[in-house]
Amino acid sequence: MLAFDIKGVKSFLRAAAMKEGIYFDNNATTRTAPEVVEAMRPYFSEHYGNASSLHRFGQRARSAIEEARAKVARFLGAEPEEIVFVSGGTEANNLAIKGVVYTQSKHGKHIITSSIEHHAVGRPCEQLREMGFRITILPVDRYGMVDPEAVLKEITRETILISIMSSNNEIGTIQPIGEIAHIAHEKGILFHTDAVQSAGKQNISVKEWGVDLLTISGHKFHGPKGIGVLYIKKGIKIIPQIYGGDQEVGYRAGTEPVPLIVGLGKACQLASLRIMDRLEYVSQLRNYMEKGIKERVDDIIINGHPSLRLPNTSSISFLYAMGEAIMVQLDVKGIAVSTGSACTSGTEEPSHVLSAIGLAPETAKGTIRFSLSHYNNRKEVDYLLEVLPEIVRNIRELSPLYKKRKNI
Ligand SMILES: *Cc1c(COP(=O)(O)O)cnc(C)c1O
Repeated sequence: MLAFDIKGVKSFLRAAAMKEGIYFDNNATTRTAPEVVEAMRPYFSEHYGNASSLHRFGQRARSAIEEARAKVARFLGAEPEEIVFVSGGTEANNLAIKGVVYTQSKHGKHIITSSIEHHAVGRPCEQLREMGFRITILPVDRYGMVDPEAVLKEITRETILISIMSSNNEIGTIQPIGEIAHIAHEKGILFHTDAVQSAGKQNISVKEWGVDLLTISGHKFHGPKGIGVLYIKKGIKIIPQIYGGDQEVGYRAGTEPVPLIVGLGKACQLASLRIMDRLEYVSQLRNYMEKGIKERVDDIIINGHPSLRLPNTSSISFLYAMGEAIMVQLDVKGIAVSTGSACTSGTEEPSHVLSAIGLAPETAKGTIRFSLSHYNNRKEVDYLLEVLPEIVRNIRELSPLYKKRKNI
């Protein structure tokens, strides 16, 4: 038959995978787009001025920053004055939450958030709780969805901020952000959303969503690491968290990292280019992968919402197997994925997101997150489909529970 040929193709794929590696961990970070690297390059060695300087070097840097700001604003449907550059998603979330809370605390000390937020929202809230704020952490349903009615029920006269992420990094569930923002505003409460995972994977419009504050991060959508944005709606006052010079209209002191800002601007521009085509491509690839895994491996659970889910994300629990072991074995084959989320990888605790959607600890620990990008292709997925079933089978054969269940 075709055995010889297929063998040849397979060993070619294997060799290719080992050399470059196949990257299915795009919710942890992404490849910086070559166009972004190219756009940044001159700002390291030619146009290296300090944007606060009045000479030509400085002015060149200044105009590059303002051009990038305009691109980011266009990407979010915002005005350039509403864009503040910070060091990443973590800083933007901290600035949003603490910045609002310190101005509003005279009106009340209550914050509403959800049980599936990234630690960059969860931990600042914990810190505020220790400082005497009351934090309500809303549960989610088994798909990871926040119920807007539940938000409404928790609002009191003391509530000053609601922060709910627009889409989840581990399971990809997309929240009804517009509805929740509407509820917040009817009650006169500020609304923040961590949209780090939405950038490049869903259309973001701060006006349509009606949010007051919104976070994005460059490295999650093919921009550089170490740069992010907090959108602050015109007229909203927040207190800076880093003091020093007057950069970013006082919201964020420190000499601007011009190359990173230029790179982020470029990433925003690229993300809007043919976005619908790209999303379609990625979701088809993801669906093809999920279907393939379902056909080849039994006893699995696909987490997240069936339809309201990021097009690139697939969180799969492999019953009777340790996610860590699957991840390591896939890495040996040249395929990069993550267990739960990158931030909890390496710790013993199951992910708080998977617990929040009701997975038992053993199920949560058997979970792998595959997160694709438009740089991935079918050949890579085919290679995954070829090696994954055997990896899972081998790991399960070591599980006493699996043997008992299967009577072997
Ligand atoms: C990665 C991530 C962050 C943190 O962004 P950094 O730029 O890495 O600090 C925040 N929120 C979500 C949902 C993320 O996925």
